[in-house]
Amino acid sequence: MSSLSVPPPKRLQKPLAVPYRHMFGPGPSNVPSRILLAGANPVIGHMHPEMFEIMNDIKSGIQYLFQTKNSMTLAVSGTGHTAMECAIFNTVEPGENVLTAVNGIWGERAADMAERIGARVNTVVAPPGGFLTNEEIEQALSKYRPALFFLTHGESSTGVLHPLDGIGQLCHKYNCLFLVDSVASIGGAPLYMDQQEIDILYTGSQKVLNAPPGTAPISFSERACKKIFNRRTKPVSFFLDLKWLANYWGCDDKPSRVYHHTGPISAFYTLRESLAILVGEGLENSWERHEKVAEYFHAGLESMGLKLFVKDRTARLPTVTTIVAPHGYDWKEITTYIMKTHNLEISGGLGPSVGLVLRVGLMGFNSSKANVDMVLEALKDALKHCHKSKV
Ligand code: PMP
Repeated sequence: MSSLSVPPPKRLQKPLAVPYRHMFGPGPSNVPSRILLAGANPVIGHMHPEMFEIMNDIKSGIQYLFQTKNSMTLAVSGTGHTAMECAIFNTVEPGENVLTAVNGIWGERAADMAERIGARVNTVVAPPGGFLTNEEIEQALSKYRPALFFLTHGESSTGVLHPLDGIGQLCHKYNCLFLVDSVASIGGAPLYMDQQEIDILYTGSQKVLNAPPGTAPISFSERACKKIFNRRTKPVSFFLDLKWLANYWGCDDKPSRVYHHTGPISAFYTLRESLAILVGEGLENSWERHEKVAEYFHAGLESMGLKLFVKDRTARLPTVTTIVAPHGYDWKEITTYIMKTHNLEISGGLGPSVGLVLRVGLMGFNSSKANVDMVLEALKDALKHCHKSKV
């Protein structure tokens, strides 16, 4: 007689079964086999010297990807949300003013995170599918005098690529740190952290980098570090405390690294490999490829009679395209049909774009004309076979 009251689950006695899918939604994207295989390497200790070398490789890859010389550059163990919280929890103290630009859900989420740590939060709002001008941003900075301004570069919920030029300089004129979310854009659209005077920049591993989700590159300028390391209060999270992370990643001036948490070793291998692939292609080549493929895609959609949600061509995100939900159709039926018939993921809207758009992500090695053709075929087929109301 067993002493166990919970028997071994039958479902775990079946082998793991994962289908192959074309991952053309806003993320995660497909992971190429070179990256998957990197993750299959033996697990070594997170404090072994070889692991520190791999982390140093990752650090220099992120510096290249972000175009920054910041020594405070590392990868957080967690997804994009973890990096968001790492940025906000370290830079903001209770009672400080935070300003977030809202042109989709990410500005709303950043506001929510800042509120949770007792910041006084204001927002400056752009219409869905639009973006803010530098004049509007300056007005808000001068009105609210925030310690931190949050902006999303690639708004994956609305498909907007927000212009960045001049905003860092404005923030610094008002003695404010500039925090940018580049989860959906980095590697697929130009961004220059140092030149654009961005103080904190983060991304995720599962979009243009084509690595599995679970690691999130982040970098802090000297100005940001000065504020963080002169805080009066401890950051609310031990796990995300930059003092600890800086030491774990060899970014401080301590002679040795001490245990903070066990890093996701296999995920670090995959992140390193995805950065190595990017280095092989070259950042500018990657930007250009994404731009060309997006133009080809957008032209194909328009020739089918579909409309793009972002009216201003220059503000269209090359990685995630938002298509106005075809009139008379149920968007859910379209995405479900395409998944069932073409084994291909595209998605509906998110936050302010729910019900208004279909979202297609072609990121990293998924960004190719062959994949565009596949999506266009699937959409044509769906519009032929899904129900269309007469009204
Ligand atoms: N910011 C943006 C712009 C995103 O697109 C996402 C993911 N969709 C996130 C943040 C959050 O990333 P994660 O899901 O990896 O936590």
